[in-house]
Amino acid sequence: MEGIDKNTFKRIFHNHWDAFKQFRPRFDNPDYNETVNKMLGCGDPDQMGFVQYRCCYCGEIRRIAFTCKFCFCLSCAKVYTDRWADFIARRLLPGITYRHVVLTMPEFLRIWFFRDPTLLSSLMRAGNACLKDILDTCASVKLDIGNITVLQTAGRSGHYNPHLHILMTAGGLDPLEQWKSISYIPYEMMHKKWQYHLLKMLRENVSDPAIEKDIDRAWRDYPKGFVAFLQDGDVPPGGKGLAQYLAKYVVSPPISVRRIESYDGKVISFWYRDHKTGQIKHETLPALQFIGRMAQHILPKGFQRIRYYGLHGNVRYQKMREYLAEIIPPQRPDDPRGYRVLGPKPFAQLFFESFGKDPLLCPKCGDNMMLELIYHPKYGTIKEFSLFEELPDEPEPVGTTASRRTMDRAERLVQVSLLFFLSNIIHWLPALNSSQSY
Ligand SMILES: [Zn+2]
Ligand SMILES: [Zn+2]
Repeated sequence: MEGIDKNTFKRIFHNHWDAFKQFRPRFDNPDYNETVNKMLGCGDPDQMGFVQYRCCYCGEIRRIAFTCKFCFCLSCAKVYTDRWADFIARRLLPGITYRHVVLTMPEFLRIWFFRDPTLLSSLMRAGNACLKDILDTCASVKLDIGNITVLQTAGRSGHYNPHLHILMTAGGLDPLEQWKSISYIPYEMMHKKWQYHLLKMLRENVSDPAIEKDIDRAWRDYPKGFVAFLQDGDVPPGGKGLAQYLAKYVVSPPISVRRIESYDGKVISFWYRDHKTGQIKHETLPALQFIGRMAQHILPKGFQRIRYYGLHGNVRYQKMREYLAEIIPPQRPDDPRGYRVLGPKPFAQLFFESFGKDPLLCPKCGDNMMLELIYHPKYGTIKEFSLFEELPDEPEPVGTTASRRTMDRAERLVQVSLLFFLSNIIHWLPALNSSQSY
């Protein structure tokens, strides 16, 4: 029996992914392979690339490998979740109250989304349309509302259970551009409206005539509508608290390390809390079945799991934020940091927060370390930084001027792509632990 740590999940995939793809050829395509391979190479400097620091005093080298940053990777999940919460905290509109809405579907409809994952986009749009419809009805006028919608496909036990978590403004701008708050939403209406919007979407988007039978059944078996509710009680009032609360619910991977109880190379045991009874349940699955349970949550490449609608739509967001700040005095939030617009944290700070050490201090002598080079498996060595004063140029041998000029130009080109590269990757938090620093 092996010890369980954050690499256990990786080990399961490492040992059984190839066999799994033979067993289930549906999963042998780039969407799944890329996510799994990146997770398997996560933190490996040769596969993922690295940043190299050198101590100016004693010459000690430290390499810090890049990580995959997928929420599917249990090593990266915490960083992914924290960064997401940070981002959302900055995106919430000051002074606005939000509600956390959950929209679900009956079990027999889920198969349609499993068969055709492109339907998941339509599901997210239907959720947005439904909430707008609900608030319009409550307000008796058309409201301009804002939603941050997150798609979650995993139920508690890792089964396929696509549902939406939405942070919805509890109100909106009326046609006179004034804010109208909505504090009461009748549940019966919510259930029925969600049923209507979801079934309408399926009818419009599924071409297989068999959908009609399921739609009829959904109307017949659910006369009170579908399960849709406002998460109440412990929802923090706003800002960072709210974002972190939501992050825990929705951007977490299908299983967390602490829920894996054992893995003996063949079968995996884990626990989950049953959402109906609240009881802890234990489940043991053979590796191939466990991988299937997990891999079904890998979304098509490029799929946006988090989408912004209405006031939160990417194009309008900044303008609406400024307008709302004019008409609504922001109430002082519980956590005043929640509404402050913060830039992304510098790499050294993120690193320090995660690992409790300063990446820029030499582990041997404690002197400052300097960035020496960045290596990426696809682009090679991106930049070598000169750490020591340059020696005066040797007189150039005749005939090398042209190639020298080419070199200069190449150097400039490298710098352009370096800027691009740095702006894109330097905020990826590289992984460092004893096995990954050299
Ligand atoms: Zn990772
Ligand atoms: Zn040193």
